[in-house]
Amino acid sequence: MRLGSAELHVVSDGAIHMDGGAMFGVVPKAIWSRRRPPDRKNRVELGLNCLLIRAGGKNVLVDTGVGTKHSQRTRTIYRMRAGQLTPRLAEHGIRPEDIDLVVLTHLHFDHVGGCTRYRRRGRGSSSSNGSGELEPVFPNATHLVQRADWQEATETNERTRPAYNPEDFMPLAESRQLELLDGDTELLPGLWVRRIGGHTAGHQMAYLESNGEKAACFGDVIPTPEHLPLNYLTAFDLYPLDTLDAKRRWLAEAERENWLLLFGHGVAPKAGRLTRNAQGRLELTAVAVD
Ligand SMILES: [Zn+2]
Repeated sequence: MRLGSAELHVVSDGAIHMDGGAMFGVVPKAIWSRRRPPDRKNRVELGLNCLLIRAGGKNVLVDTGVGTKHSQRTRTIYRMRAGQLTPRLAEHGIRPEDIDLVVLTHLHFDHVGGCTRYRRRGRGSSSSNGSGELEPVFPNATHLVQRADWQEATETNERTRPAYNPEDFMPLAESRQLELLDGDTELLPGLWVRRIGGHTAGHQMAYLESNGEKAACFGDVIPTPEHLPLNYLTAFDLYPLDTLDAKRRWLAEAERENWLLLFGHGVAPKAGRLTRNAQGRLELTAVAVD
């Protein structure tokens, strides 16, 4: 779709399933399961929605899904159907080498897995067998991360470590394709990242404004439309009260200015605009952003 003079597409890497209790935090299962019935292992489906923004002659990708490096065991645990980002980009006429900027909301494995892959070793050998040399998927792209997020991802503890896979992002530092940001930054005219914290200390959102039209992706601070109510916070959040503050502030602005909201883990819908129902509750009117 067009947003002002920019082009915007949701490009999916596939889907994974995560524990419903972890996704909805302190909200009782008796309540969240009405809208999102879990599978027999208590998992709910999550889209791996990346965003392709074409603006100012540049191709920008926001997040990259889980990619192709996972073992069969990990694929089974998360019921992964993934690694589809590159073919989906091709449907928009975009080759990996055409991507100029990769904005990473944060460095958790389900957002940066698609940044690297195992190097192909010639015909007949598998590129996703869990071994081999790594290479960046987007050879000409600068990858943008908040410095605070990089620090948290590279100095982990027992609580934070399982969400990271250093193979996703360390090769980007080695190939000098990484740029660390310190707070809010305008990447192109009208395209911003804003550090909003909450989920991780350096979690950032992407914000686009073009000819008066506005769109934003809040990453894992509001991962799905089901997380619009302020108290729906994931148990993965390292600073949940910061997530709460960020949601309170940015949802009010998004409603006032009729932003198009894009949800990194939404299944249906993946994007929409905010409205109020008769009870005064915030709702989403779906918008297709293919
Ligand atoms: Zn996530």
